[in-house]
Amino acid sequence: MSYPFNKPHLTGKEAHYMYQAVLAGKLSGNGEFTKRCQRWFEQRYGFRKTLLATSGTDALEMCAMLCELKPGDEVIIPSYTFVSTALAFLREGAKVVFADSMKRNPNLDAEQLESLITPRTRVIVPVHYAGVACDMDAIMAVAEKHGLLVVEDAAQAVDSFYKGRPLGSIGHLAAFSFHETKNITAGGEGGLLVVNDERFVRRAEILWEKGTNRAEFFRGEVNKYGWVDMGSSFLPSEVNAAFLWAQLENLDEIQQKRRQLWDCYYERLKPLAERGYFSMPDVPDYATNNAHMFYLVFPDYEKRTAFIKHLKENGVGAVFHYLSLHSSEFYRSRHDGRQLPECDRYADCLVRLPLFYDLQLEDVQTITDVILSYYAE
Ligand SMILES: *Cc1c(COP(=O)(O)O)cnc(C)c1O
Repeated sequence: MSYPFNKPHLTGKEAHYMYQAVLAGKLSGNGEFTKRCQRWFEQRYGFRKTLLATSGTDALEMCAMLCELKPGDEVIIPSYTFVSTALAFLREGAKVVFADSMKRNPNLDAEQLESLITPRTRVIVPVHYAGVACDMDAIMAVAEKHGLLVVEDAAQAVDSFYKGRPLGSIGHLAAFSFHETKNITAGGEGGLLVVNDERFVRRAEILWEKGTNRAEFFRGEVNKYGWVDMGSSFLPSEVNAAFLWAQLENLDEIQQKRRQLWDCYYERLKPLAERGYFSMPDVPDYATNNAHMFYLVFPDYEKRTAFIKHLKENGVGAVFHYLSLHSSEFYRSRHDGRQLPECDRYADCLVRLPLFYDLQLEDVQTITDVILSYYAE
């Protein structure tokens, strides 16, 4: 047997919709499938305005551009995240101030925010790790008190909630990813920009359309279009939007299956967690679980390394996750030297287990048997 860490899922309708997009005779961005996907997100989650993007990274770059940062402006970002979260803001000339994670889970520790704020702070970027919400009330309260913007990195957080509110709907702006490793994909790469604050709606469309007011022109709001601002080509092709549409139609089924697999891991591994071999994913009362990821946190680096090796020898693709961005080759010389011990602990001790739609409950049983036998030895 052999279980990869991830395998992209096809619902069956992708090729059909991609063919339809070709037959419609218009394959470039902002066509019928793009509009259909955007409307779906706006209606289902109450997002004020959404724009499909070529990747989660691009959606974050649009967020950063919308914040209109000046050199030296500071942006608070957890160090335990993907490179793109920080890079999007660094490219806009911001100084990235890295924040530590919580003890209970890898999300940004809202209680430490106040200590990181200076007169130059402009933005806070909570990352909903594993699709589990950050403490958004606490983060929004700090932001409001200091007049800051909040950009949610909801790359992993599709269909997940904070106190009943959809993730991506709480900050001023948000970004989702439809990379093949996420719960749903736009055919390998894709993303979504969410604009919740009315002030940014018009400019977001212009940045998206290469700095032109073409979107307004197509709606008949202006009688010619031209170059009016900064921008880039952030629009995905209709082929990608058509692929994503097939996945959106099946989102409930996909989420249900992933939760079933997640719950099975949780139940079967709980006895080992109770004996202290590792700790289980933490979902606070204010958060829901969209089953994006099943992870374990080990007491130290050596125990994690031995665990990954044992699983690999048994055909199970278990992988560690982020390395601390504050001590990365690229950023460490710019970092202010603060220790971020929780972030380093997750970098050293966290392992992700295979979790994807095509995995079966029997597969999770087999994988957890491999783990149980390891500790029985
Ligand atoms: C996946 C991911 C991204 C980047 O998304 P892409 O679509 O791969 O560009 C950014 N942030 C986080 C937290 C992610 O998990």
